[in-house]
Amino acid sequence: MLMKALRYVEIGKPPVVVDIPIPKPGPGQVLLKITAGGVCHSDDYVMGLPEKDYHEQGYPLPLTLGHEGAGIVHEIGEGVDSTLKVGDAVAVYGPWGCGRCHNCSMGKENYCTNAAAEGIRPPGLGSQGSMAEYMIVDDARHLVPLGDLDPVQNVSLTDAGLTPYHAIKNSLPKLGAGTVAVVIGTGGLGHVGIQILKAISGATVIALDVNDEKLKLATEVGADHVLISDASAAEKIRELTGGLGANAVFDFVGANPTIALAQSVAALEADITIVGIGGGSMTLGFGSIAYDAAVRIPYWGSRAELIEVLDLARAGKIHVQTESYTLDDGPKAYEDLASNSIRGRAVIVP
Ligand SMILES: [Zn+2]
Ligand SMILES: [Zn+2]
Repeated sequence: MLMKALRYVEIGKPPVVVDIPIPKPGPGQVLLKITAGGVCHSDDYVMGLPEKDYHEQGYPLPLTLGHEGAGIVHEIGEGVDSTLKVGDAVAVYGPWGCGRCHNCSMGKENYCTNAAAEGIRPPGLGSQGSMAEYMIVDDARHLVPLGDLDPVQNVSLTDAGLTPYHAIKNSLPKLGAGTVAVVIGTGGLGHVGIQILKAISGATVIALDVNDEKLKLATEVGADHVLISDASAAEKIRELTGGLGANAVFDFVGANPTIALAQSVAALEADITIVGIGGGSMTLGFGSIAYDAAVRIPYWGSRAELIEVLDLARAGKIHVQTESYTLDDGPKAYEDLASNSIRGRAVIVP
């Protein structure tokens, strides 16, 4: 039996839709019938790697894309110790780990200390991903009940929700009433980040992007102020904060200009969190940043945090703006992502 899959097959070329055999779940594995898969800038990053780096970083070819996945449990492999049943609606917790180390024991598989050595890779980012009609999940532990949440509407929460949630939650002690949070980049992750800030913190949110359309979305999802991210943005943030700067800055772009902006508008004791993988960097030294400001580079989030994010969605407090594509139109979704023309998150629906 064959299935369609969106795969990266040739370095430097766009992904293609191909027919491949439906995989069989081995011992301990679960086969999902995919209901939705989210399109992410990280996929573009991977497909943009030069051949040498691609192989050195351990990516296989061909690679089925998709690290945001939702599906229905279709078949359960031998020896799976779980209450999972065929027919259950689930979301895939993407940052797979070993399940045994200290961090994994706390559900923080995103920071597994054995994954690299054991070659454990997230789906779509090393293991075969969710942009196919079926997908193998290595362990039932990686599946979180979706319940009656719509998979297409909510699949992106597994990364575009979980990643900003984890970033924001760690800065919550600095984001009480009367504080200011700056969100740079209001696309897939940023527009969810704004909603999370409004839902769980007391901060006033200033959102920045280079594109008016994205700022419109930022306003719709609850940003208190929106600014075009240009040379005057830092001064405008200073004005909006009475000269003090922001208590937390979340950079969902991570390019040199956005990191410089984050650094320049961080208040005393602020958190600067660089989430985007835009390739930028920061030089730190005395006088280059406000006193006692801290810089963090987080990666994804914990399984418990994914459950919390899905709970926020269930409570109606966060909502992902999505644009749907069929699997056949998958390559087009990546073109639209590259041209920055997606409003919110692109989702592939097999
Ligand atoms: Zn991603
Ligand atoms: Zn581990």
